[in-house]
Amino acid sequence: MAAFSESVLQDILAKTDLVSLVGEYVSLKPNGQRHWGLCPFHHEKSPSFTVNGANQFFYCFGCQEKGNAFGFLMKIEHLPFPEAVRKLADKAGVLIADTEETPQDRERQAVVELLGKLTKSFHHLLLNNPEAQGARDLLARRGVTPAMVESFQLGYALRERGWMKRFLTERKYDADFLSKTGLFSANNPDAFLFSGRLLFPIRFPSHETVGFGGRLLAGDGPKYINSPETQVFSKRRMLYGWDKALPRIREKQQVVLCEGYMDAIALHQAGIDWAVAPLGTAFTEDQARLIQRAARTVVCLFDSDEAGRKAAAKAVELCEPLQLETFVVKTPDAKDPSELLEKEGPEAVRALLESRQKGFDFLLDFRYTAFNRDSGLDVRGFVGEVFGFLSRVDNGVQQETFLNRMADFLGVQRDTLVEDFAKNDHSRTGRALAVRSEASRPRTASGRTAEWSLVVTVVSSPELFGVLRRDLSPDDFEEDRCRALVEVMEALAGEGRAAFPLDEVLERLNDETWREELIRDVMSGEYQPNAAQMVRDGVLKMREKTLLAQRRKVKARLEKAATDEEKTRLLQEHKFLGEEITRLKGND
Ligand SMILES: [Zn+2]
Repeated sequence: MAAFSESVLQDILAKTDLVSLVGEYVSLKPNGQRHWGLCPFHHEKSPSFTVNGANQFFYCFGCQEKGNAFGFLMKIEHLPFPEAVRKLADKAGVLIADTEETPQDRERQAVVELLGKLTKSFHHLLLNNPEAQGARDLLARRGVTPAMVESFQLGYALRERGWMKRFLTERKYDADFLSKTGLFSANNPDAFLFSGRLLFPIRFPSHETVGFGGRLLAGDGPKYINSPETQVFSKRRMLYGWDKALPRIREKQQVVLCEGYMDAIALHQAGIDWAVAPLGTAFTEDQARLIQRAARTVVCLFDSDEAGRKAAAKAVELCEPLQLETFVVKTPDAKDPSELLEKEGPEAVRALLESRQKGFDFLLDFRYTAFNRDSGLDVRGFVGEVFGFLSRVDNGVQQETFLNRMADFLGVQRDTLVEDFAKNDHSRTGRALAVRSEASRPRTASGRTAEWSLVVTVVSSPELFGVLRRDLSPDDFEEDRCRALVEVMEALAGEGRAAFPLDEVLERLNDETWREELIRDVMSGEYQPNAAQMVRDGVLKMREKTLLAQRRKVKARLEKAATDEEKTRLLQEHKFLGEEITRLKGND
């Protein structure tokens, strides 16, 4: 275990800006003292993940995940502490003495350094070596521009299989180390895996190369191969093009998922530079989670053949339960983006994205085709398969939407389907759905009621709390969420806080649904214009409502009053309330 001195750690933290570090993974918006975004550590639709630039800590109001820059990097990149320290030190330009790193740290670092150097060499070979003519021709034929070749640092590896080992051995790399780089065959440690191939470096968002994809140009062998798993490379967890696409993915909150390296490059060339591809294997849940940290929608753009449709179905099934909205593009005539770019140009590639259907609708079509045989539709098989997917969708609204679509699709009654689903599904969600369809009303109000609008406006413009406080108290609010919020603001005001930032209000609100509603509405910015007028009007209306209700109560008690003394007192109260109401109306 590496032991870092406290002063080194402090130095790294001092030179790291957590807001920009987190910003590489989460799209953040400033509000109050904090920056807000969708939490990368739990599923949510409205932002409750915050970064405090002042104290350099992050905190999620939803899942309570918190920590500093090291903690963030460890969690988001699944790194052990020493790795996170080393990575941040690199970024911050802090030198770590060798004694503070473990041999594994140094080895990992050395692998990445070597792959980085090789990326440059392979690129140089592709551009200049006569042997790479075939590779250059292929790229030219597929319409890949020199700019893309440069940007993706495409490369070429010489055909002779023993060359790489000799070359690196001459440079004092030992055999044991080289066996861990993923460059050589496990069976024949002298044989370079990628000989004679066009190379696609696979990189981290930091642009470090951690592996390669290689396309065969001539001769026998698989058309595409990838680096094997190494200590720096895991193909299940990475996506091709991620390093280039990430900033655009965050900006668009969307990922275009395509089948292969050449497709990803074709899409980028056509201006769809938020496209990525799995690494020669089927799309995995880890990759879906990677996307989930950066985007909200996934557009699947796979070949229209059986394999492509299957891949799209899998992507939909993995993404939707993670609250990623999916679409599937209908690719015409089995043309993939790379082929389209070659034959019809970038315009045709862009046009592809226009004709798409919702992921779930695609899934229904796909499963229907699979279960519709000569003997007709295997209803049980079809419904069972789709129910299996639905039970993994841990979101009631989404589940209901899908069940509605499924009922339409099958032309059956929605209620029958819901009932079947509840019976079929033994998971928590299935029961929840069944209960929900019977439940009459939610426990408290939701949506934009008058009370809620008033409270949200005050939270958005806390300087107006005084206006509310003058005429209303928490008990005047009928909705639990509004009463709770006003109590929170009362408490903050009671502590002498003149203006209370949203995060402090949220910190004291103990209901996640309310927090999410509040964040969503405050962040919408809709409650800020004309806030003073809205608060005055809102307070008046509520005050009037309260007074009218009080007067009704007094009147009822008056009718039952036993003694003259009580009657007199109640009459006075009734009169006072009447005057108050008149005064309020006069204020209008
Ligand atoms: Zn969270």
